[in-house]
Amino acid sequence: MEFNTKLLHGQAVGSYPNGGTLPPIAQTNAFRYDCFETLEKVFSHKAMGFAYSRIGNPTVAAFEQRISELEGGVGAIATSSGMAALSMALLCILSPGDEIIAGSGSYGGTIDLFGNLEKLGIHTRFFHEPTVEEIEPLITPRTRVIFGEVISNPSLRVMDVAAVAALAHQHKLPLIVDSTTATPYLANPLALGADIVIHSSSKYINGSGDAISGVIVDGGKFPWDFSFHTALQGFEKYKKLAFLTRLRTDIWENFGGCLAPMNAFLNVVGLETLGLRMSRICENAAALAQALEEAGVAEVRYPALASHPAHGLCARQLRGMGGGILTFRAGSKEKAVSILNHLRYAAIASNIGDVRTLVIHPASTIALKNTKEQRQAGGIYQDTIRVSVGIEDSKDLIQDFLQAISAAE
Ligand SMILES: *Cc1c(COP(=O)(O)O)cnc(C)c1O
Repeated sequence: MEFNTKLLHGQAVGSYPNGGTLPPIAQTNAFRYDCFETLEKVFSHKAMGFAYSRIGNPTVAAFEQRISELEGGVGAIATSSGMAALSMALLCILSPGDEIIAGSGSYGGTIDLFGNLEKLGIHTRFFHEPTVEEIEPLITPRTRVIFGEVISNPSLRVMDVAAVAALAHQHKLPLIVDSTTATPYLANPLALGADIVIHSSSKYINGSGDAISGVIVDGGKFPWDFSFHTALQGFEKYKKLAFLTRLRTDIWENFGGCLAPMNAFLNVVGLETLGLRMSRICENAAALAQALEEAGVAEVRYPALASHPAHGLCARQLRGMGGGILTFRAGSKEKAVSILNHLRYAAIASNIGDVRTLVIHPASTIALKNTKEQRQAGGIYQDTIRVSVGIEDSKDLIQDFLQAISAAE
């Protein structure tokens, strides 16, 4: 099945109660059993079933199955937000004294999270470009995971997932990728060699900006060494499923970052048009980036542009597409603010992956808590504007940006 067909006819579809074309919203905390012994078995994982919605819910499970299937994983766990997914995936495999290697150009909240982990004795060493040459020298005897974004937000660096996965595996390390901006439409990181994929499904997967959520997908192929990844001790018998098992029955249950059933439902609905939206969004983003570059706008960054260093990688790894985000520089913060205020269609809002075009000045918003050095490493300057391109007609979008830019002059 091709991607769009799979969105509507995948394995996880077709088993909903009463022939529903969508899963029902199981808006309930608890599940009642006529016979206590059955509930007892459910609790000890000896019988299938649901007990309490923090530890399992049918609507959430339907969403997890859909994403796991689309990413080619062995299982997925949905969380209350993308940040909850990142926190829980990392806490599941790290112990005090362990080190992470991660991209300096990652999402601002993720950079902040690495700061939180420092206080728990988990240190992060940063690479700038997501290349084997930059990552390999950062590996120490304490490294336990390599983390990066497939297309980093908003620095727009693209990871060669196959190359970095091969490096990670040579050193017995798992590769965790945040594929929020690539989406399962542009890439399947597990097939490229990554071990765990994370999405902020608040973004493209949901698509309409109506629910915050995250999801973690396990490829189920990483050969955990329990004397090396000591955080997974106690889960030896699950072998390659140790990460997923600890995550579901221990970390996720206890940290309490479950997804609300209603939000899972909204994601299942949104997911059905992911392919349509992404192909339109990528087309629009490429057209807008091209038009801005031709108009002489400074430092237009879009991964699929011929002027971007990752252009070739987009062709090889991302179906020739560059995603929905582009950045450019306005010349000064004042001009950036003026451009934002002059835009008619693009909404000034802190989000990406919506059907509508959104714009933001990252330095004074999403990267506010990062240091100046962290911001610059992430390609965020005082005059940088980030655009999350929507599904409007590209002619209108191009006109809108060009008029706002000339008005700001
Ligand atoms: C938004 C985002 C996150 C955080 O997700 P939330 O759902 O907002 O918690 C993480 N990574 C990337 C790349 C993002 O864009």
